[in-house]
Amino acid sequence: MADSGKPQSKNMSPRKPTTPTSRKCSRCHETGHIASNKKCSMYIGTRNPPTPTKAVLPQRASPKSPPPKPKVDEILHCVRCHQDYPQSHVKRANLCMIPHAFEEFPSYTHFYGAGYSKDYHYDSMCCGPKKKVVEEGCGNDDYKMKGVGLCFRGRHTTDAGEVKYNKINVLRCKHNEAGDCVREWLEPDDDKPTFGVNIDNCDDDDDD
Ligand SMILES: [Zn+2]
Ligand SMILES: [Zn+2]
Ligand SMILES: [Zn+2]
Ligand SMILES: [Zn+2]
Repeated sequence: MADSGKPQSKNMSPRKPTTPTSRKCSRCHETGHIASNKKCSMYIGTRNPPTPTKAVLPQRASPKSPPPKPKVDEILHCVRCHQDYPQSHVKRANLCMIPHAFEEFPSYTHFYGAGYSKDYHYDSMCCGPKKKVVEEGCGNDDYKMKGVGLCFRGRHTTDAGEVKYNKINVLRCKHNEAGDCVREWLEPDDDKPTFGVNIDNCDDDDDD
């Protein structure tokens, strides 16, 4: 008969995780999506840009601080890494990142002797065998990522002429019927290399 007098904790449901449906978009401040989501009216609103309506605020705030003007920050699409980014990031030097792409099978197996585990050495496809990643312990997904680095790190661009496409990990945009690029950013993983075999690089829809 311990808890009959305190029913409150029984019905408390665990706090809901923050989901895109409950989160406010940092760009358009509506709920139901997040800023990187193309449902954002900032993405689809180019025909009909959200006019900065003067907010009707309760006038109890001191009149000497007017509300900050909403900045119009055009959303661009990077034709190298396929992230969407705001115009204001054009000059940021390190947001455009592409990992190396490695061969599916090792080019070299390092034997340490009987009773020791082997290492597998994988060559990159994009930068050749001079760029390698080592998997320790007989292929148990334990990769030495230190020093592997990135294939590209720099500024985003909307100019395909600036990009060295290689049909491996640096891929041209692939557009759907609405004209949007459907490629996903190959986000570098600190713990694991990217293997070319896992990259959806088919259907390059542009010539080069
Ligand atoms: Zn939004
Ligand atoms: Zn980029
Ligand atoms: Zn590379
Ligand atoms: Zn793209």
